[in-house]
Amino acid sequence: MAPRRPAPPAQTVAPDAAAAFRRRLHAWFRKHRRDLPWRHTRDPYRILVSELMLQQTQVSRVLDFYRRFLDRFPDLQALAEARPKKVMEAWQGLGYYARARNLHALARHVTSEQEGVIPSEPVALRELPGVGAYTAGAVASFAYEKRAALVDTNVARVLQRVFAPHLHPKSGAGLKQLWMIAEQLLPRTGKSTWTHNQALMELGALVCTARVAHCSNCPLTAGCATYPLLAAASPDADAQNGTAPRPPKGTRRSVAKKAAPKSLTKSTASGSRG
Ligand code: SF4
Repeated sequence: MAPRRPAPPAQTVAPDAAAAFRRRLHAWFRKHRRDLPWRHTRDPYRILVSELMLQQTQVSRVLDFYRRFLDRFPDLQALAEARPKKVMEAWQGLGYYARARNLHALARHVTSEQEGVIPSEPVALRELPGVGAYTAGAVASFAYEKRAALVDTNVARVLQRVFAPHLHPKSGAGLKQLWMIAEQLLPRTGKSTWTHNQALMELGALVCTARVAHCSNCPLTAGCATYPLLAAASPDADAQNGTAPRPPKGTRRSVAKKAAPKSLTKSTASGSRG
């Protein structure tokens, strides 16, 4: 049997680089964030509904379903008491129906076994039906403002491109490294973690997308390991130091996917949110 390859050393982010990353990212988010209904609540039930609906599904598609579902099942108790058929009806058209079944099972479990209280810690959240590492981090940070990391497809892509272009985010080892990077980037407080996680996901959905890396609109060019590679491959890219004057609105050029080496443009598993 061939000897096992040693695990690659953990990717580390220097504290100064992490602080600069957060500063640029958060400033960008304050200016460019979308006004989305689940950003106006800290109710863990509503956050959970939004997170499950957003898996594999575009934001624009989720908005109506989210509003209608909450009109019909305004809280965890109402959902727990509903007949499965009614829950599936409310989910009809959104697809990936295992999400609806899991959400219903979760509501019944939490109301019957946990006095109706959705846990706040990622470890406890992961015990619930349909809740994986990403969703646990999302509920902990978005509902309870806990200092918890999260990595979905969009976040994995951003972190890979900025800090570790050599990693393959679809591999278990690559994803593990990206989670370690995400942990190192967390701000000190839970309140800032809400902003931080939302901002990371927003940048992956709007700027550093799977199809096109819109580097000329990105606040992270100065510290991004992939940006010089993309800029060198595309004569249309902005200056490599990210400080070039921006062209007039509507004429900004994007660095197309085709300009990048293949390994830099692969996305990780599931998740949409665009
Ligand atoms: S500079 Fe380009 S590749 Fe780097 S994070 Fe921004 S959009 Fe993505």
